[in-house]
Amino acid sequence: MSTSPSKVEQAKVCNASLATTTCPYCGVGCGVDVTLDTKGNFSSVTGSSDHPANFGRLCVKGSKLLETNSPEGRLLTPTIMGEQACWEEAIEHVAKKFNEVIAEHGADSVAFYVSGQLLTEDYYVANKLMKGYIGSANIDTNSRLCMSSAVAAYKRAFGADAVPCCYEDLEQTELLVLVGSNAAWTHPVLFQRIERAKKISPDMKVVIVDPRRTASAELADLHLAIKPGTDVALFNGLIHYLWSEGGLDRDYINTYTQGFDGVLESCETSTLIETAKTCDVSESDLSNFYQLFLHTDKVVTAYCMGVNQSTSGTDKANSIINCHLASGKMGKEGSGPFSLTGQPNAMGGREVGGLANMLACHMDIDNPDHRHTVQTYWDSPSIPTKVGLKAVDMFEDINQGKVKAVWIMATNPMVSMPNRQKVADALAKCELVVVSDCVQKNDTLDYAHIALPATGWSEKDGTVTNTERRISRQRGLMPATGEAKHDWQIICEVAKAMGFDSGFNFSKPSEIFAEYTGLTSFNNNGTRDLDLSGLCNLSDKDYNRLKPIQWPVTLGGNAEQPKGTKRLFTDGQFYTDSGKAQFISTSYTPPEQLTCDDFPFVLNSGRVRDQWHTMTRTGKTAELTSHIGRPYLAIHAKDADKLNLKANDLVKLNAAHLTSGDLTVCLPVKIDNNQRQGELFAPIHWSASNSSSSNIAALYTDANDNISGQPELKHAVVSLEKVEFAYQGQLFVQQNLSITLLKQAFEYFVTTPFEKGTLVCFATNKDLTALRTWLVNNFPLFEEWIGANSQVFSSTCGLREGELVLSMGTTNTSLELDQNWISSLIGEQNVNLEQLHGLLNLQPDESFKQGKLICSCFKVGENTIIDAIKQGNCSVDGLGATLKCGTNCGSCKSELSQLITQHKPSKLPVGQEQLITLEAV
Ligand code: SF4
Repeated sequence: MSTSPSKVEQAKVCNASLATTTCPYCGVGCGVDVTLDTKGNFSSVTGSSDHPANFGRLCVKGSKLLETNSPEGRLLTPTIMGEQACWEEAIEHVAKKFNEVIAEHGADSVAFYVSGQLLTEDYYVANKLMKGYIGSANIDTNSRLCMSSAVAAYKRAFGADAVPCCYEDLEQTELLVLVGSNAAWTHPVLFQRIERAKKISPDMKVVIVDPRRTASAELADLHLAIKPGTDVALFNGLIHYLWSEGGLDRDYINTYTQGFDGVLESCETSTLIETAKTCDVSESDLSNFYQLFLHTDKVVTAYCMGVNQSTSGTDKANSIINCHLASGKMGKEGSGPFSLTGQPNAMGGREVGGLANMLACHMDIDNPDHRHTVQTYWDSPSIPTKVGLKAVDMFEDINQGKVKAVWIMATNPMVSMPNRQKVADALAKCELVVVSDCVQKNDTLDYAHIALPATGWSEKDGTVTNTERRISRQRGLMPATGEAKHDWQIICEVAKAMGFDSGFNFSKPSEIFAEYTGLTSFNNNGTRDLDLSGLCNLSDKDYNRLKPIQWPVTLGGNAEQPKGTKRLFTDGQFYTDSGKAQFISTSYTPPEQLTCDDFPFVLNSGRVRDQWHTMTRTGKTAELTSHIGRPYLAIHAKDADKLNLKANDLVKLNAAHLTSGDLTVCLPVKIDNNQRQGELFAPIHWSASNSSSSNIAALYTDANDNISGQPELKHAVVSLEKVEFAYQGQLFVQQNLSITLLKQAFEYFVTTPFEKGTLVCFATNKDLTALRTWLVNNFPLFEEWIGANSQVFSSTCGLREGELVLSMGTTNTSLELDQNWISSLIGEQNVNLEQLHGLLNLQPDESFKQGKLICSCFKVGENTIIDAIKQGNCSVDGLGATLKCGTNCGSCKSELSQLITQHKPSKLPVGQEQLITLEAV
């Protein structure tokens, strides 16, 4: 038995208090224990050991929640046209303008664009206001961009937006097929659970289906690098294979499903040979995958944005579901089709009607009984009879002037929506743009007529639902920053100011939760999957101490211990009219945009390990920008050779819909043979708030799935053009710099926080004299400037009272200085001559040549790790034992594996052979 004190005991000893909440980032939904000191400030953050999503783990983003929770950069007061305003004035202004627009142009002339960052209670009242009181269904969410295809597919197959699986299934399965997901980076804690399960059960197989070889592929027994967008062909081929090899579960098909014959017919020509050709994979790899699926009893197919963000996303998801239905690998422990959600509360939004095509509580707009149920329960003046505008259509209608007032809540569509210029045009011409957010500045706030300060994580209070249908409390632990209010409060105040006196008199989130849970059970009688009758009528105390629980939560339990549901469809009963699951015939359709001579590359997009969405929070700390601090364009070496490109060259990306002369998107090259040839990858996070030309959303068109409306954000066709600048360089300065100031000096730039200030990577056509003049003019308080020039570089240092406060290096190629080295000198009073000499010659000390940071927790660089591997330390555990890398949050473990694969010596140093053998045993 452990004798170490529990967290509660430790907190008591320190006279601190311990609170439990939920991480605000990805859909894994990890529980977080927060210690607050006697003054109410955070003193530590750890994973909750008893939260069933993470059992004590946190990834690097979660473990740095303290560092990103600062008041710096928060929106503190309402503003009207950029001028500070009081709440009464701002609320009145929003309500009056919305009422005027509705009176003149009808209910469909206004819209809400909301977010998976909202809590369920926020979402609930936003949806209630739009659908029940304004009388339009024009409320859509940024979850449209991440998982609406998964929703549409579940509804087609199961009659409900019901995720059948739970996280335990990922551990209990015998074969995990991970499709279009780099879970090692995007759902790190879930991936660590899978890694552990595979370690415990080495017979468990993992197949990765992804055009890229990502960090997740390190765990794979088989990686199928399919041609982008061919997922339907792959899974139709599997149906054909199961049929031809006697792998169909006829009992399951006959008893619990409908429509199989149509599916079989649509897969008639999907032979292994044809499928291998379409997917551009080898027949033997394909056959290996199909055999594994055929011969394994328990199979989970988990899928994410790579499936959903496509013009055929819904069909892709249904083709996966078809395979599980056809083989009976459904509704059983360790089996089923499992969509992974990106955002912390995308699921909560789906539950309460955050999507324009559904009512609250999984009820349908086109179902008169459902409309009646919702309107009766709400006692509301109206209920829409037609679906509202989905995200892409919403911005199109704003652009066309049909929607005249929009309220954007907790999201940054200027960066995340495709076709950035169209979104910008739409917002620029919209009569009223209201933005409620917790940050003071982002690309969307630039267009706000009215900005409303909302509370952020640690202040917000309510519930969220994770990927496995688990509802957890996200608790309000701190008072609101500045004059910020909770989103639900703001919405209710606007509703009342619009004249809707009843329906919005909530004084706390528990009252909203009570109304919401009541609606899930109202007129339900087992006809709807989302039933929270077991959570109805919770007292405030029970709501406050609600433990994580998976819906449906029926009355089988009691208020003290309500009973949740691990997995769905264990009885083979579905929510369709017949009660049977529906096979959906699908056929492979290529992506909307195809490569051609003018645009020969396919651009894929995704997240990097330590960043979240548009970086408004994770971009605040050097702790999370040290792993990957700059945007990049990954390209295969052979493609780079053909275009005469080398690492860090800057390239302009062109797309057919962009004006050809503009430097809209310009990225440094990263040579990466994990790409297929002809395909590129760039991260999604950077925006005009931190860079000149790195927001890749500009390259994507409005192409979207015609069933789900989800945009094709993983498939743009582009051309590349090398951009030559007179100089490239890096500027380290001990302060924040405005984008306006940077634009004066640099044509290309990206800003990144580093430990002691701001790092700017730049390129410019200005001459060195002009650059130095810009420095001297804009940093006039620096007392001493020293510089050095050579034929290949130039360097400048600024000092104030003997302290190094600025360092700039330029070359005529590219330059990447070691951040840790500069950090060790900036802000130092006693920089000696030798150090200054090194700085002016851009030559770091030997001890700082660590290379790219791999382990953010213990600051272990790539070169240090590679050296250890070359010395024969060739296991992740071994590296952890000697260097500590990977031993805290574990987010870098897949990269450690990648480095071992790449740098393992073919012949181990003498004496190491035995070590490896013993570890393997
Ligand atoms: Fe947060 Fe990381 Fe857990 Fe996702 S995996 S919820 S980002 S701690």
